[in-house]
Amino acid sequence: MAALTRLSKPSFTSLSSVSRISRCLYSGIAPEPSSHGASPYSPRLGPKPNLSVKDPKDRNIQWVFLGSPGVGKGTYASRLSNLLGVPHIATGDLVREELAASGPLSKELSEIVNQGKLVSDEIIISLLSKRLEAGGAKGELGFILDGFPRTIRQAEILEGVTEIDLVLNLKLREDVLVEKCLGRRMCSQCGGNFNVASINVKDSNGSPAISMAPLLPPPHCMSKLVTRADDTEEVVKHRIHVYNEKSRPVEEFYRSRGKLLEFDLPGGIPESWPKLLEVLNLDEYKEKQSAAA
Ligand code: AMP
Repeated sequence: MAALTRLSKPSFTSLSSVSRISRCLYSGIAPEPSSHGASPYSPRLGPKPNLSVKDPKDRNIQWVFLGSPGVGKGTYASRLSNLLGVPHIATGDLVREELAASGPLSKELSEIVNQGKLVSDEIIISLLSKRLEAGGAKGELGFILDGFPRTIRQAEILEGVTEIDLVLNLKLREDVLVEKCLGRRMCSQCGGNFNVASINVKDSNGSPAISMAPLLPPPHCMSKLVTRADDTEEVVKHRIHVYNEKSRPVEEFYRSRGKLLEFDLPGGIPESWPKLLEVLNLDEYKEKQSAAA
């Protein structure tokens, strides 16, 4: 309740939340100088990010994934997290965990989420701070943030406490986003994410044709599949509308700082994953993966 009381005082709230994020992000790590407008490396052309961090005091990568609901942020962030050994932190997952815990925030959160609206910046910052603190206590370094920041205010708060190296903006045409969301399923037992949609849309109004094969679950998950309550057509369309209104400006926020890397998904995972590794200058990982296969 104390946290909730603090959250009702906006000016104090952001300071308190910021200092919590800050403490967590910088625990034991010397802050890097902030360089607005000058990213540590140019996502497109610059040298490769230093991904082979040996000294635990070195700071690991700090990336942000942007993109409309259903674009695949979770899928690609999770793959990169496994590949690079850096935590994948999805604020949507934090919200769903809070909902499942049936705590004091659950009722308020479920109404907001099920209508496809955004949770307040204060609540999201508080959930994220707690997650970062818990990760910091376990020795986690760096992050791939998925679903945060989603408003300019969140972006400003994040910028105030740490340096973001790269912002990946995943893009897909809107009719495909809706189909993908409607096809999403999760295994209620193992938590695996799948998609039963078989997408095949023709080119129209300058948008290229796109095909995506379904990502079917193994037989033992088949009977345990559930659909997210906010993946109905009406709510998905509203979430895309909210993204365009509140989160699209965040793309410009990072574009103007030279940190935004745009990535148009060419298709499903088999087509998109190798291309993504290529644009991220991670080809060496692709080679290692195929050598190990
Ligand atoms: P997602 O799984 O990213 O689609 O998030 C599910 C829901 O959690 C969203 O529709 C929002 O209600 C809430 N949410 C997640 N991240 C944020 C955020 N950064 N700001 C506000 N609300 C969020």
